[in-house]
This record gives sequence, structure tokens and C-alpha cells, in this order.
Amino acid sequence: MNTNPFASYLTRVDSAAPLLNLSETELARLKSPDHILMQDIEVERDTGETTRLHAYRVQFNNARGPYKGGIRFHPGADLDEVKALAAAMAVKCAVVNIPMGGGKGGVQFDPKQYSPAEIDRVARAFVRAFAEHLGPESDVPAPDVYTNAHIMDTMLDEYEKIIGQSSPAMITGKTLDRGGIVGRDTATAQGGAFVLQELIPPRNTPEQPRVAIQGFGNAGATMARILADNGFKIVAISDSKGGIYSANGIDPIAVLEHKERTGVLNAKGATTITNTELLECECDILIPAALDNQLTEENAAHVKAHTILELANGPTTPEADAIFSSRAIMVIPDVLANAGGVTVSYFEWLQNKEGRTWDTSEVQTRLAEIMRTSAQAVRAMADEKKVTLREAAFLLGLRRIVDALRAPRL
Ligand code: NAD
Repeated sequence: MNTNPFASYLTRVDSAAPLLNLSETELARLKSPDHILMQDIEVERDTGETTRLHAYRVQFNNARGPYKGGIRFHPGADLDEVKALAAAMAVKCAVVNIPMGGGKGGVQFDPKQYSPAEIDRVARAFVRAFAEHLGPESDVPAPDVYTNAHIMDTMLDEYEKIIGQSSPAMITGKTLDRGGIVGRDTATAQGGAFVLQELIPPRNTPEQPRVAIQGFGNAGATMARILADNGFKIVAISDSKGGIYSANGIDPIAVLEHKERTGVLNAKGATTITNTELLECECDILIPAALDNQLTEENAAHVKAHTILELANGPTTPEADAIFSSRAIMVIPDVLANAGGVTVSYFEWLQNKEGRTWDTSEVQTRLAEIMRTSAQAVRAMADEKKVTLREAAFLLGLRRIVDALRAPRL
């Protein structure tokens, strides 16, 4: 089974390549990062001891604009994972046609074992290691798994100390007090909802489509709330501890309140299910919103949904993709489905550069416009080339990157 995330990316580039008419140099550029920055950072623990952590920043491609992508604090953040995520960012930014390239960062450690003060020191050490490569016009990080707005503020503070001037556009996902943008916290799910509404097949979909969501964090819980507000029926949700199912529907707000009080998911009339059962439950739309490699050749044949919306990055292996395609299950790929997050990050970068503050209505209107137009463009490409939405999104994104590479430069 092919679960190496960078190998999955290369498989997808290889299948798009014949339709793109690429030179060998262009293909090589799409398959390897521009720069791999690696450094072990030293961090003082609260005990006074010093520990060394592997830190990475992969700058995959800047043909269309500054490298853009989050920084992940996670024990699994190794070079392959960071490379795959950086590559996906380049394709994602091109699919939604925003003028940014692709990058990603990571520090390989378990933040749950670190105090807030220690995490602060990790954030500052990361910036000191890579500061000369970061900046509003060169490489613009953001939060990712286990990093948040507070950590972005800390990173900005360290960066501004180093360069000796204010530079809020060097990083996005900040708090509102430090130049963050309204609506960034709901942008990924909201963008996914706009795309779903655009692409959902009207045939075979009941008036109140049944939705199962894996993952009840920022992306998954927000999505559950947005879809419930828009007439969808949430029949199953899960988190790392397991899930719940109710054919009559689950109120996501009540579940969130219960989880905040007790730490576990529960709802009136719902039965307990495992994460495996969630992926295979009776529903119309399945939304993986947790981890990568969840839909594989082992479970793809048992999925009952007719539509899969990938809010998580890389939840479907190439083998599962082939099974879904043969079963005519529509997979709305991550590079389109979860691109609302980077789109609003781009708005934040713009507002910082312009020195003005966008309001909610401006953010929502422009997000809807970009997500709907991008969904239509991906569907048009899929219809024209008779390929899946993932292949179409890759064709569209890679084509735009190659066009930028080919454009004359001074
Ligand atoms: P998060 O940490 O807020 O939430 C993750 C959720 O997944 C938690 O509810 C956790 O309990 C659950 N989970 C963990 N292991 C699980 C398991 N084995 N089975 C089921 N659930 C499990 O993270 P998030 O920001 O919501 O991100 C989720 C996914 O969406 C990631 O793949 C991330 O890369 C992707 N994504 C997020 C954003 C964003 O803006 N938040 C943007 C683009 C992509």
C-alpha cells in the first residue's frame, strides 16, 4: 500500500504529466522542491536542560508568488510529510488562482509534552533558524496542526525583532490584535461548504442530504455547524476517541457543548461507533476532516456515500481513489475542498500589505466567489478531459504553475 505522502503526490503528477505536454525540466521542477531548509533547533526546557529538535521549511515552488504554507508541530512531521504538504500547497494556491506558491514547515516533536513557555521557545527558535528565508515577498508561513494564532503572533514578534521593523504580512493566521483577519477560523469549512454546494450532484441526493464527518476539530466541527445550518442532516461525527451515529440527525452545537464539558462526543438517541464504522456508515456525503491516509484500498469498497469532500489534507490514498472512480463515487479533492483556509490567509496578507482591515462581508463575498469559480473550473476540466475531479484539479493547478514558469522574466 502506498502511504508515503510524497510518493502519492508524485503519482498524481505522473498521471497528469502526459496531458500537460511538459519538458523534462518542467516535470523535474514540479516533482522536486526549490529548497529544503533543515536545521536542528536548540530549545531550553523548563528544567533548564537543552533539547535538540529537527526543524524543516520546504519551499516547494514560487512560480506564482511567495511560498505559502503552515508550520506543523507534530512528532510525525518528517521531511517526506513536509515535502508532500508543501507540494500540495503549490497546487492548491494555483487551483484557487491566488498569487502564492507552495511551502510548508514543521518541527518534529510532541507539543502535548511541552509547556506553553517551552512551545513559545520552539516557535522563536524556528524563526531564528529560518528568518533570512522568510518575509512578505519571499515565504509567508501560517498555522497548521498544533500551531495556532498565538504561536503566529510569537513568530511575528521574533521576526520583527530580528529585522528591526514591523512586518505583519510575513505570517498569516495571527490574532486580530496583531493584524489577523476576521473569519480565518471558519474559512476552511466555509470554503468547503461553498464548493460542496456547487458540485453536489442533484440526482440521488435527498432534500436533506445525510452527512458523516470524521474529525471534530477546527475544520470538522465548523463544517458540521455550517452544513446543519444549511439544511443538511449530520448523521455521524467522530474524534480521536471514536464516533456517534444517529439516522435521525445530530445537533452539532449540542455535541460541541457536551464535548467541551466532558471531553467526549455524545448526543441524544445516538449510538456509539468506531472511526472505521463512521467511514462506512449509511450517508450521502462523507467528510474526512482529521488525518491523512484514512480512505484506503481496505475500506474504499465499503464506503456508502456518493460524494466525499476532503477537508483533511491527503485523506485518500491513490489506491482508494481508483476504487472510488470505478464505483462512480465523486471525490472532491483536498486541493480544492480545503483551499478556503489559504484563500483567507491570502486576504490577510493583502490586508496587511494594504494597511487596511477587511470586514466579514468582504471576506465572505470574496471567499464565496473564489471557491465557486474554482469548483466550476475544476468541474469543467473534468468534463473536458473525462477525468476525476482530483485529476482535473491537478491538471488545472499544474498547468497554471507551468504557465507561470514559462512566462518571461527579467
Ligand atoms: P484539529 O486539530 O483542530 O482537529 C483534528 C480533529 O481530528 C480532532 O477532533 C481530533 O480529535 C480528530 N482526530 C484525531 N485523530 C483521529 C482519528 N484517528 N479518527 C478520527 N478523528 C481523529 O485540526 P484541523 O485544523 O481541524 O485539521 C484537520 C485536517 O484538516 C488536517 O488534515 C488539516 O491539515 C486539514 N486542514 C485544516 C485547515 C484549517 O484551516 N484548520 C486548512 C486546510 C486543511
